[in-house]
Amino acid sequence: MTGAGALTGIVTTDIAAVTRGRFVASSAFEKMLTGGVGWLQANLSLTPFNVIAHPNPWGSSGDLRLLPDATARFRTAKTGADTPFDMVPGNLVELDGQPWACCTRTILANALNDLKAQTGLTIVAAFEHEFKLLDAGLPREHVMSFAGLRRVDGFASQVMEALDEAGLKPEVIISEYGEDQFEVTNAPSTGLAAADRAVALREIIREIARNRGWKASFAPKTSPSSVGNGVHIHFSLVGADGQPASYDASGPSGLSEAAGAFCAGILKHLPAITALTASSVSSYYRLKPHNWSSSYTWLGDKDREATLRICPTVTIGGNDPAKSFNVEYRAADATANPYLALAAIVRAGLEGLKARLPCPPVHSGDPDELTEADRAELGLRRLPETLEDALEALQGDPVVASWFPKVFLDTFTGMKAFEIKSLEGLDEEATCASYRAVY
Ligand code: GLU
Ligand code: MG
Repeated sequence: MTGAGALTGIVTTDIAAVTRGRFVASSAFEKMLTGGVGWLQANLSLTPFNVIAHPNPWGSSGDLRLLPDATARFRTAKTGADTPFDMVPGNLVELDGQPWACCTRTILANALNDLKAQTGLTIVAAFEHEFKLLDAGLPREHVMSFAGLRRVDGFASQVMEALDEAGLKPEVIISEYGEDQFEVTNAPSTGLAAADRAVALREIIREIARNRGWKASFAPKTSPSSVGNGVHIHFSLVGADGQPASYDASGPSGLSEAAGAFCAGILKHLPAITALTASSVSSYYRLKPHNWSSSYTWLGDKDREATLRICPTVTIGGNDPAKSFNVEYRAADATANPYLALAAIVRAGLEGLKARLPCPPVHSGDPDELTEADRAELGLRRLPETLEDALEALQGDPVVASWFPKVFLDTFTGMKAFEIKSLEGLDEEATCASYRAVY
């Protein structure tokens, strides 16, 4: 696997949710563990369209090191490439090894550490991905059908084998509801590993498609009228004793007190964190009512329109529901950095835990059909409807702002404002096309 010629990529994922990095000969990788490879601050201001936003807080000077985390290495020889796929997520540090405050992976690690230190809880998560296969000349088949998947049987089995070999523990691949849309799920893991896996999964699937001359696009909307590609972030809490801590048979829809408070924190800060979980202009074409994507600050029991969906538990064969009980955050897509998205969820949940917020009302039914007064009583607020509104909500929530270094938020909002500006004058179709090409 790591013979002569093979390369190992040491990577970081930026605000644009683009995974970037540097490659070394795999035979030399071990030597990189101490000092890492070079990186620079201004890269964090790169837009998805490959231009560094300006103004930005960084300018042309400054250097960092990208230190690989050898425990998070993803390797597979099954992507159809000339050499094995070998990717190692890393942490950005200053030249003396101090953590760089704007490293997105470190931002998540810190959030997870604080959750544990302040509550004793840890989080287990899994990112469920939808994507479309473009330029593949696929024959038309019914959506969600057997034939819909069989028409890409070689691709689908290659994806599952590659993900398995890379250690992602893939579970199910399906032909989804959209035209030429597919979905892959993988097993839950600890918070940091879940985000690492999300990064690896996207790169592995993109690489397999590319090596067939196709494009796998994870863009939230490949066209305004198409079915959206969501990233659904499943999470559950684990107690200090290592036991599942989200489930209580006597709680509302099975939510434990802790899980209820965690969900309440997310809903409270949801308008502000949406920019961190749905980070592009086209994300907001997806987050509309009746798209099964989520559009209100809404906790629902097994309801796919809700932002937080309490997922079903399967008790067939005497399975313990506590073990599989989880909640799914649906207002996310692949234009959001998985580390930042999960960090925002964890930080918001932690606020709910610290304030001992009561479990929000579990609502079922169409929020659009309620009166404004009823929605207000249930705490159902419309999510931001544009990226501009989402950025305003982010900047307008001092609690959320307090989770991040100021320079990080300035970089985030500055880059996103520049991204919005670079799409000025484009209609929705052209905007979707821009994102479709790069995600
Ligand atoms: N495609 C939907 C979305 O944009 C999700 C459909 C589903 O429930 O899997 O999130
Ligand atoms: Mg789906």
